[in-house]
Amino acid sequence: MKVALFGAGGKVGSVLIPSLEAAGHEVVDGRDGPDGCDVAVDFTRPDAVAGNVERCLAAGVPVVIGTTGFDADAVDAQARAAGFPCFHAPNFARGASLMMRFAVEAARVFPDAEIVELHHATKRDAPSGTAKATAARMGGDPPIHSIRLPGLIAHQEVIFGGPGETLTIRHDTTSREVFVPGVLAALEKVRDLPPGLTLGLDAVLS
Ligand code: NAP
Repeated sequence: MKVALFGAGGKVGSVLIPSLEAAGHEVVDGRDGPDGCDVAVDFTRPDAVAGNVERCLAAGVPVVIGTTGFDADAVDAQARAAGFPCFHAPNFARGASLMMRFAVEAARVFPDAEIVELHHATKRDAPSGTAKATAARMGGDPPIHSIRLPGLIAHQEVIFGGPGETLTIRHDTTSREVFVPGVLAALEKVRDLPPGLTLGLDAVLS
């Protein structure tokens, strides 16, 4: 497929280019316009997403959004109005998807829980999209603690406490290549999704 990549020069985008090309896709810079592309990918910044999605939908191009911290309701409305599918996962790592699932399961047993999310120092949004999605799925509004430090990539702990015991579920991203399989799966499936914004990696992983 011909893929318009918004954020091609960024930390994630620069990892995606060779990986998508190795998987057989043609990658063009989204800033040059999405016309003629089959699908677009956005790993930019929260305030850039709506504009990029608007350009893509006007060109009839569905968008896979990796950027976090954007207004998902607004993008859902844009995509519904245009009659095209878009997809967003706050975390394209399969291990993070499992972490969220395990946290939901543990929350049924341990009502007292807190989330600690740790990311590189240049991350713009806090709390992270992964932490907010985890909290929403767990219910009960667990507190979220955000740490931003050089040396980190993306990490999250969900800590449960009960009388005489604690349980910690932790996921660590050690390389941004971890996001590639999830993005490739989303590229393959996004055009089969219903109009509007579909959320969560489980929707595109079989
Ligand atoms: P980054 O290194 O800051 O890269 C962002 C890139 O986007 C920069 O090259 C920037 O170019 C470009 N950009 C900004 N506005 C743009 C626009 N309107 N059109 C096209 N390109 C634009 O950030 P990153 O670490 O790659 O992360 C990007 C986003 O993905 C963040 O929101 C992050 O939280 C999210 N993320 C999501 C996942 C996931 O699994 N869903 C994983 C990692 C990161 P200039 O510098 O020239 O402006």
